[in-house]
Amino acid sequence: MAPARQSSPRTKDQLHRAVIFLGPPGAGKGTQAKELARHYGVPHLSTGDLFREHVVQGTPLGLAAKPIMERGELVPDSIVLKMVETRITQPDCAKGFVFDGFPRTVAQAQWLGELLKQQGYKRPVVVHFAIEPALLIRRLTGRRMCKVGGEIYNVFERPTKVAGRCDNDGGELEQRPDDREEVIGPRLAAYEKQTAPLVAYYRRLGLLHDVDAARAVTEVFERVLEVVGGAR
Ligand code: AMP
Repeated sequence: MAPARQSSPRTKDQLHRAVIFLGPPGAGKGTQAKELARHYGVPHLSTGDLFREHVVQGTPLGLAAKPIMERGELVPDSIVLKMVETRITQPDCAKGFVFDGFPRTVAQAQWLGELLKQQGYKRPVVVHFAIEPALLIRRLTGRRMCKVGGEIYNVFERPTKVAGRCDNDGGELEQRPDDREEVIGPRLAAYEKQTAPLVAYYRRLGLLHDVDAARAVTEVFERVLEVVGGAR
């Protein structure tokens, strides 16, 4: 992705908080979260990526999560929360981190709020990716991920120079099993039912910032920088 024209007023070591990216599957959270994490030099924590790694490695957690993910449903909190706590209490998270795909329920958000307070972080910044549902189908069916570095492309909106190969490392691109059309419906339904209530939840707490996620990747990133850089 091309560098954003504007830079954040914060320097890399000043995040010291969690940034939460909230929005439906296909809104562009993964692409923006990776870029923001790179910008601040902090970890990008995608719970979906963490689960996919467990699936590839065949761990007990991965075996439990796989069929649930393949149905497009949410993994139970008993599994998710332990995994998140283990990850964010590691030393590389001390300067802050960017969540992508977490929290996804009000119960997860309440649990996270307590944990962040206990750990002494500043209030989180929540970036809401607002987008028309019609655009999501195209983004999800066109999405391809590099098997090596996880870079995200889209056959319609962000094609690679060589078809099927990552621009960064030449890795083979693959489609996520849950980006197949038959799983997209249940995933969007799970979002509407379980995750969309978080928009009102975080708005009430005064933590939510809306971003028009239908815009081009670089424009969205400029707005994300503005929001995160300006947060008190
Ligand atoms: P994602 O990559 O964020 O679209 O997540 C892929 C799948 O992983 C989801 O459809 C869920 O099955 C599971 N997942 C990821 N994050 C969570 C979460 N915070 N809570 C429950 N399930 C999750």
